[in-house]
Amino acid sequence: MLGTMQDTPLSIAQLLRYGASTHGKSEVVTWTGDGPRRENYAEVGKRAARLANALRSLGVTGDERVATFMWNNNEHLEAYLAIPAMGAVLHTLNIRLFPDQLVFVANHAEDKVVIVDGTLIPLLAKQLPELKTVRHVIVANGDAAALEAPAGIEVHSYEELLAAADETFDWPEIDENSAAAMCYTSGTTGDPKGVVYSHRSIWLHSMQVCMTDGMALSQRDKALAIVPQFHAMSWGLPYAAFMCGASMVMPDRFLQPGPIAEMLAAEKPTFAAAVPTVWQGLLLHLEAHPQDISHLREVVVGGSAVPPAMMHTFQEDHGVPVLHAWGMTETSPLGSVARVPAGAEGDEAWQYRYTQGRFPAAVRARVIDDSGVKLPWDGSSVGELEVQGPWIAAAYYGVDDPEKFHDGWLRTGDVGHITPDGFLTLTDRAKDVIKSGGEWISSVELENHVMAHPAVAEAAVVGIPDEKWDERPLVVVVLKEGEQVDAAGLREFLTGKVAQWQLPENWTFVDEVPKTSVGKFDKKRLRAAHASGDLDINTLR
Ligand code: AMP
Repeated sequence: MLGTMQDTPLSIAQLLRYGASTHGKSEVVTWTGDGPRRENYAEVGKRAARLANALRSLGVTGDERVATFMWNNNEHLEAYLAIPAMGAVLHTLNIRLFPDQLVFVANHAEDKVVIVDGTLIPLLAKQLPELKTVRHVIVANGDAAALEAPAGIEVHSYEELLAAADETFDWPEIDENSAAAMCYTSGTTGDPKGVVYSHRSIWLHSMQVCMTDGMALSQRDKALAIVPQFHAMSWGLPYAAFMCGASMVMPDRFLQPGPIAEMLAAEKPTFAAAVPTVWQGLLLHLEAHPQDISHLREVVVGGSAVPPAMMHTFQEDHGVPVLHAWGMTETSPLGSVARVPAGAEGDEAWQYRYTQGRFPAAVRARVIDDSGVKLPWDGSSVGELEVQGPWIAAAYYGVDDPEKFHDGWLRTGDVGHITPDGFLTLTDRAKDVIKSGGEWISSVELENHVMAHPAVAEAAVVGIPDEKWDERPLVVVVLKEGEQVDAAGLREFLTGKVAQWQLPENWTFVDEVPKTSVGKFDKKRLRAAHASGDLDINTLR
């Protein structure tokens, strides 16, 4: 027997219609060099319709791919809504990819159109002759005449196209399982892989973002989306904001701690999202330039493990709770969220907050050992995390990867354990675990301890080859300005916090830890720097 309920598709067009009408007064605020630019959701709706008409007039039909090469801003939000709602597929290009990777992903996705921010023209222009399927480039926030395109590619001004287009569009009815948007994983090894989100997966994911035990985003919020729109769909915030009516603050290219602090002061957002390295920079800035940020009811931090010391600084120095979340490009990305369970107080509550959190009802999870056997949720059995659910990828676009996807499960490459009440703690990424004398050392645990030292700004730990033990940890430390501590002092600081045999003997002090294109510690580059002898290592005996 089938249910007797209506089968209306979950579509981006419906999100767009709803946000632009019911929440027409909510706004997207884009930061510019000279203060904010404001646009309400009713206007976003009209401009999205104009963009859809403009794209049709350029010949975009069916599920053709329209790429964005943009910062977080109102135009990017318009593209987020218009492209899927018209039935085409939004492809968010990571502006920080290496040139050959950018060429690879644009050709692999067969992008027909690229919308580019004016300030990013120089980055795109060099690669444009190699983008085989691109026919049109649309320049937003800049001068289209500044782009000299190769033969066969027409260049347009975003604003001129929109001005010439109609402000209503007859959004088509689309199967909810159709592709809506795609995002390639940053790919630490091999070519980047495309994840294709459907209208349905985006819709269900957005509901989770809005749920109280998700990110609790609501129409009362003003959300500062620092996490880029080209990285895992800005963690789903733009779509969730249109679903619930939360206003948004978009930093555009002003991502340094100073301008972020200015945005906080000027717009007083209630919510913000970014990876730990961004917050680390902001917290250091605030140490030197104190400012009240208690208007933030919560900041969500994920993308890599959040050092507990950072959570305490946010809470104790600024009165802002950090919500720790885990996810991946392949998981839309919300996979788990560390909400404290009812009844937990004090230190017990903190212990919950440090974890990567609980899985929502839609996400099934398990940890498996090397031979694929499921391990118990006992809070100590460590294995690789696998997940499944309606917003979890079942495959990569156009590439078979039976290692990653098997029997309906996604192998995450993350290693950890789960408590009986469903809290995930990740101890490492499978490829970053340090195998020392047949035992495992968690690089994340060491990093968290070193980063708790008051003189340390950043610390990344990688395994380096060792004749006797196979691998040993190397700690790469960035000190805060004007602070002093040496390797022996830090090792002393760790004593008693980790097992004696885990205490690192290899230390190096650098000005900056290299970051990936999405702002995480780039451990691959650190290992390569070590292998090529570029790091000045102090080995304690
Ligand atoms: P990406 O697809 O670039 O967002 O990277 C996803 C990966 O980031 C995951 O597989 C994890 O290894 C890592 N990650 C994301 N969130 C967390 C977190 N809260 N703690 C530890 N690692 C995380």
